[in-house]
Amino acid sequence: MAAIVYDVVCGMSTEEGNWASSAEYQGKTYYFCCDGCKGAFLKSPDYHLSNFAEEHPGIDPSPSG
Ligand SMILES: [Zn+2]
Repeated sequence: MAAIVYDVVCGMSTEEGNWASSAEYQGKTYYFCCDGCKGAFLKSPDYHLSNFAEEHPGIDPSPSG
């Protein structure tokens, strides 16, 4: 079964492999529903990661990354 990963920009989740876009940050791969979300993430990755952590406590957006 594929791992569930999260788009930390818009909060969508789906199985790994279903994503349109991905980006590496600090040695991890993050997945995005579209290039718009990827672009927003790359502009301010720390902002989106801490935002996601606040809204989804204890959830790793990219477990296998
Ligand atoms: Zn998105």
